Amino acid sequence: MEAGPAPEARPLMDEQTFLDNFSHLNCPRKTYLRYEVELLVGENSIPRDEYKDFLHNESSYKIWERCHAELIFLERMASWNLDTELRYRVTCFISWSPCPDCADELVKFLRESRHVNLRIFAARIYDWYRGYEAGLRALKAAGTDVAMMTFQEFEYCWKNFVDHQQDEDKPFPRWDNLDVESEELTKNLEGILQNQED
Ligand SMILES: [Zn+2]
Repeated sequence: MEAGPAPEARPLMDEQTFLDNFSHLNCPRKTYLRYEVELLVGENSIPRDEYKDFLHNESSYKIWERCHAELIFLERMASWNLDTELRYRVTCFISWSPCPDCADELVKFLRESRHVNLRIFAARIYDWYRGYEAGLRALKAAGTDVAMMTFQEFEYCWKNFVDHQQDEDKPFPRWDNLDVESEELTKNLEGILQNQED
């Protein structure tokens, strides 16, 4: 018997859930958040696979303020009790960028967690709430790398956290105008991050 978790224990998302939620062509109500953690040692990064999974927001309206994906993620991260003497890089691939309230909570966490470096790749910009631009700028000011997902990240996610059943080599089925959309969103995000106004 080999030690370690069985291959089927890898947390994977089914293909349709990934495409429905991450494609530029859709505007889903849910937010999916995939995360992975690396331990940074000098120039090296060591994947910590025990902290690799995905989650989505909970849609009970009664607890709406506690149900966004980022807040569930923050609770989960707190429960890991990552060693404050070490350095970690946490990467999130999220189907919608953080709303202003979640951005605030992430910033608070990062201020108290100097051992954690956060990267966020978002599929789409969530501009539903006023102040979303300021929220994204606050994340950047707190040291977070905020970027839009491009073909590279969509393909990475497809290969690394989507369940392809029997067909491991199934190529990522890019949707129409993926590159154009990514480029446009990247420009929008850059404009938001550079703007000093609210
Ligand atoms: Zn939120």
